[in-house]
Amino acid sequence: MRTPSSGAAGIEVPPTAGLPLQWRDLLPGGPADLEARIAAWLDVPALQLECSGTASLVVALRTLAGRSSRRTVILPGYTCPLVALAVHHCGLRLKLCDQAPGHFDFDPQALEEACDDDTLAIVVTHLAGRVADTAFARRCAERCGAALIEDAAQALGARRQGRSVGLDGDIGFFSLAAGKGLSIYEGGLLLAREAGLRRALRETSDRTVGRHLGWEWRRSLELLGYAALYGPRGMRLAYGNPQRAALRAGDPVRAAGDDFSLDIPVHRVGRWRRGVGAKAAQRLPAFLDRAAARAARRLPRLQGLPGVEVLKDGPGEQGVWPFFMLVLPDTAARERALARLWGAGLGVGPLFVHTLPDYDYLRPIVEDADIPGARDFAARTLSVTNSHWLDDEGFETVCATIEQALR
Ligand SMILES: *Cc1c(COP(=O)(O)O)cnc(C)c1O
Repeated sequence: MRTPSSGAAGIEVPPTAGLPLQWRDLLPGGPADLEARIAAWLDVPALQLECSGTASLVVALRTLAGRSSRRTVILPGYTCPLVALAVHHCGLRLKLCDQAPGHFDFDPQALEEACDDDTLAIVVTHLAGRVADTAFARRCAERCGAALIEDAAQALGARRQGRSVGLDGDIGFFSLAAGKGLSIYEGGLLLAREAGLRRALRETSDRTVGRHLGWEWRRSLELLGYAALYGPRGMRLAYGNPQRAALRAGDPVRAAGDDFSLDIPVHRVGRWRRGVGAKAAQRLPAFLDRAAARAARRLPRLQGLPGVEVLKDGPGEQGVWPFFMLVLPDTAARERALARLWGAGLGVGPLFVHTLPDYDYLRPIVEDADIPGARDFAARTLSVTNSHWLDDEGFETVCATIEQALR
């Protein structure tokens, strides 16, 4: 694999369209009603703030496990490794389910077969800002007596028929991690349709999640660093250069940032970070609208790439557009495109490098599984940023380079 040694023209376009923070956001004081503001904008019942999307899932699983003797959680084979770590953290068994060809949705037959009387929950994922098929997963969950959890970590603001994702299942969660739309460096929001379950989630959190001054200090400093460096120049230093070093060292897992620690911090989010998020949240709806408009403008060019499929919204779906998810015609073309573009500073790379069983460091906790659809998806997909820092010229370079790789 060719590994570019520097970013294009000394800049680094972030891989996702994250909302940049402003210095005013960082001032202490003012309202810290982050959860209430987001809930009002999404028109959903109360949201519960946790210290990450992963921690939100931990609280959700602890709550469900406390009400049931079932112990298995069904996950898609291709998803964020942190999801597997959360299941493991809770002492639960994970079972991987294959995905439909060329898509991130579950393969319907595989999901039906995966469900049994030990299934505690099915985790359905709104990947890449797109709206997942929750209806089929819902029916499977109901039939086997399991809960449905919507992983909307990448989909804050996505709606179906005008209604926020996260309400079709029993529990949903959003991520406020660095690079995911709105960020307080690490944070997560839990959502539940039903008041009884909302109370139970709150109670689990009150009982099991404590303050941790060390972690909150660390996250506060990281948030300051993020606010200072999130942009085409700072990202070169903080993101692009380490990524290129990892690529040169032949470590794609590290380059993609998929090398998570097995320890999951679970602690309360402090008032200052909540305030930063609350202030930034006011700019989020307009920011997402601009990202959607940019995506609509750029989609035709990407869809015109021969043999390439771009994941998009179905009827009635209004996803969000942190990046574009491209499915290339074959693995070789995807590898050629990655060789030219990953590390080139243009916001192109794999979303996650592998399916869950194919990460060496996850071997102790994830058993191998027969998931050809998920493996094919992992090997053929490419993520192209929708950051406003990728200008039209940069976007055209990306498209022309992919075009060459397709030949
Ligand atoms: C990022 C991510 C998570 C975990 O969220 P964090 O806030 O980073 O802990 C879970 N699922 C998916 C699909 C993600 O992309």
